[in-house]
Amino acid sequence: MASQEIEALSGALARLPGLGPRSARRAVLWLIKRRETALAQLVDALATVRDLLVECDTCGNVDTTNPCGICADRRRDPRSICVVEEVADLWALDRARLFAGKYHVLGGRLSALEGVRPEDLTIGQLLDRVRQGGVDEVVLAMNATLEGQTTAHYIAERLEGLPVRVTQLAHGLPVGGELDYLDEGTLAQALRARRPIA
Ligand SMILES: [Zn+2]
Repeated sequence: MASQEIEALSGALARLPGLGPRSARRAVLWLIKRRETALAQLVDALATVRDLLVECDTCGNVDTTNPCGICADRRRDPRSICVVEEVADLWALDRARLFAGKYHVLGGRLSALEGVRPEDLTIGQLLDRVRQGGVDEVVLAMNATLEGQTTAHYIAERLEGLPVRVTQLAHGLPVGGELDYLDEGTLAQALRARRPIA
């Protein structure tokens, strides 16, 4: 029988996305054998994340500063806002340096199944940003899933009547495709060929 401490850590790790109880227990045993190296590094990295990382009040990005580095960057074009579902999507686009504007993280996608309603996402904050003025284009970069597209259309409707051009990523995205898993070429193509939302 594993000790209570090992069970507690395995249990905590098993809650991570993509990690089940079995692989969590293997990871714990692997770490215990590397107490001075991998485990020490992991402890330090976790403490740093816990102590330093904050959510940006403007865009929802996660960074060591609030506003985040992207919102504070004057070289970025504030007239263009790219709306993504999750921070991971923002990072995928930004890793590839594909977009020179600002971002807005929704914190998920509308889902009747999971009970996610518009007020559970940061749609209100997005509308506020646009209403404040100085925004010419909102690029909806939702995943090419049914829920992602439903979310994009809902936001486009809410933006109607505001003086802003609303575009979305081109249909180069594979159906069901999630931004975070796409290669940079596909992402670049989808962004370059963005078009007005239908
Ligand atoms: Zn920000």
